Amino acid sequence: MVCCFLNMKEAGNGVRGSLSGALACDVDKNNYHVHFSLHAHLGRQKELMMLLRTLTGTEGVSYVAVYMERPFVVFTFLRQVLLTKMEIPEVLLSSGQKMPLLGMGTATFPLPPPHQVTSILVDAIEVGYRHFDSAAVYASEEPLGRAVTEAIERGLIKSRSELFITSKLWCTDNHPDLVLPALKNTLQKLGMEYVDLYLVHWPVRLRKEVPIFEFSGEDVIPWDMKGTWAAMEECCRLGLARSIGVSNFSSKKLSQLLQHATIPPAVNQVEMNPAWHQVKLRGFCKEKGIHVTAWSPLGANGAFWGSLSVVDNPILKEISTAKGKSLAQVALRWLHQQGVSIVVKSFNKERMKENLKIFDWELTDNELAKIKQILQHRGCPGQSFVHHDGPYKSLEELWDDDA
Ligand code: NAP
Repeated sequence: MVCCFLNMKEAGNGVRGSLSGALACDVDKNNYHVHFSLHAHLGRQKELMMLLRTLTGTEGVSYVAVYMERPFVVFTFLRQVLLTKMEIPEVLLSSGQKMPLLGMGTATFPLPPPHQVTSILVDAIEVGYRHFDSAAVYASEEPLGRAVTEAIERGLIKSRSELFITSKLWCTDNHPDLVLPALKNTLQKLGMEYVDLYLVHWPVRLRKEVPIFEFSGEDVIPWDMKGTWAAMEECCRLGLARSIGVSNFSSKKLSQLLQHATIPPAVNQVEMNPAWHQVKLRGFCKEKGIHVTAWSPLGANGAFWGSLSVVDNPILKEISTAKGKSLAQVALRWLHQQGVSIVVKSFNKERMKENLKIFDWELTDNELAKIKQILQHRGCPGQSFVHHDGPYKSLEELWDDDA
């Protein structure tokens, strides 16, 4: 451990310069602790707070102010408080569980080698992410589980219970008898005793033998919504999933599900971003107490299911320039102001940090009105689930009238 001891009373610019170096080390390597001695205190508090704001890259300073009154501050603790307790608010789900409103996505194809994904996800925990969105089909469960173990070993978190872990039932397992074995398989891969949230990935069943991403409309077969949901409820009762929910469900399909449900879905995770507002579906979910999580919040630029509809949008570019925020931050902040939670994927440590900085500023009514004008377009329509002989004969039947 490297300790930098600084008496602020005597600290001139040169000393503050070397302090900056030490704090920067801490951010990169995570195991440098910096102690401040505030003998001179009050006169220099504001200055030190400004310095910490710059170095931690956060504008939130209220926790700094609290701890500044104590004689010693351990910087890593302070950073953790700033990043986790203050920056990521939570939502209370209908299940009674709290979920961080911003999570890290883990879907990318092809997925980098598992040890690289593990290291990336440890970085995500280090910079402050506490909610991770995984799925059987992403092949990210094993590397995520290992990242959690490594983060505990490195002291980044004390236990798995500090994290909110989501996974999803893939369509080949969307059958009443296959739900529990699929979740047990997921838990084995994660090396965990429970997931915080288990979602039915799509309102679709695929033939069992179909390889991942090699399916077509012909492989889609009718599914038993009532039976699958009863099996999801069983997973919840067994304590293997603390909350259960769905993904890519229209309001009509949610209505049907609610008729059978003893445990209502806590979450509906759907595509949503400034280019796909989901106004009708959000209205329905709000009425029914179902929390909406936005996937592809940046339009999944670079992914085969994504587009540049968000990152190349001129209205967002204009707001981003005027506001001095990145376009991604504007898109994420817009989602936050719509009352939904977000799962955003970045495997780049700088962009991970950038995406976290959306909670201490806001878009004005004028800016929100501009975003309302953006041309609407569903980025990932799920065309491969449609077939003239299958249960969904058109995209309208898949999405009902939630245009
Ligand atoms: P996304 O989060 O909208 O976009 C990810 C892309 O944006 C990546 O190429 C990423 O590149 C880039 N990016 C991230 N931060 C950026 C920034 N600040 N500036 C510029 N580019 C940035 O797309 P997504 O991965 O589709 O959605 C997020 C998560 O939602 C997924 O990972 C998955 O967990 C979940 N999801 C769920 C479903 C479902 O059916 N339930 C479907 C799709 C996705 P870098 O990694 O290089 O930063």
